[in-house]
Amino acid sequence: MSLSENLHNLIERVERSRLRVNPHHIVKVVAVSKYSTKEDIEKLYNCGQRAFGESKLQDFKFKYKELKKFPIEWHFIGRVQKNKINHLIELEPYLIHSIDSFELAMEFQKRLEQRGKKLNILLQINSAKESQKAGVMPEIAVDEYFKIEQSCPNLNLKGVMSIGAHSENRDLIQESFKITRDIFERVNGEYCSMGMSLDFELAIDSGSNLIRVGSSLFKS
Ligand SMILES: *Cc1c(COP(=O)(O)O)cnc(C)c1O
Repeated sequence: MSLSENLHNLIERVERSRLRVNPHHIVKVVAVSKYSTKEDIEKLYNCGQRAFGESKLQDFKFKYKELKKFPIEWHFIGRVQKNKINHLIELEPYLIHSIDSFELAMEFQKRLEQRGKKLNILLQINSAKESQKAGVMPEIAVDEYFKIEQSCPNLNLKGVMSIGAHSENRDLIQESFKITRDIFERVNGEYCSMGMSLDFELAIDSGSNLIRVGSSLFKS
């Protein structure tokens, strides 16, 4: 299968899912390019895809520079190391999905204030409470969200992000999505970022309006 066929198939599946929710439910597709080359990103760009996501700062930096002539909407979805915050800010991503603590938000706030810059972010939630995953625990997520909102005027909090439960059991995955969606509604966010290649339909059914899809787009 070619990249354009992969994209076409993905959009068809997203359409079916989102229309089950309701005709006004629009889902943003972020193409996670972490396993792919700049050539493949360019190909997908030429098919109309505009939002791309990277999870490692070095790769993001490289692809950002190589593809600078294209007005790509870059998303950063990986773990943020405190000593790399300045580099990340310089790349001006459209949205960072992976802010996972008040402390990390404050580190961004300090540096953004010094530079007179603003940044869009999501609060990552560890909805399935898995020790190997980043994110704030669901019980404190709403409080953390409002705390960041109040203390970080240079951060635009735009909602929440979560990775579905690591399980074969669809009920467990769905449950983790519902927990995230519930928090999203309580904080009145704009983006509810959940769903990847293996579970994005379930995520959309559970109220996701932003999916992060990598392997089913780039691997054939
Ligand atoms: C890699 C990654 C994705 C995409 O995963 P696929 O299964 O390849 O679609 C989505 N979100 C995050 C945070 C990732 O690290």
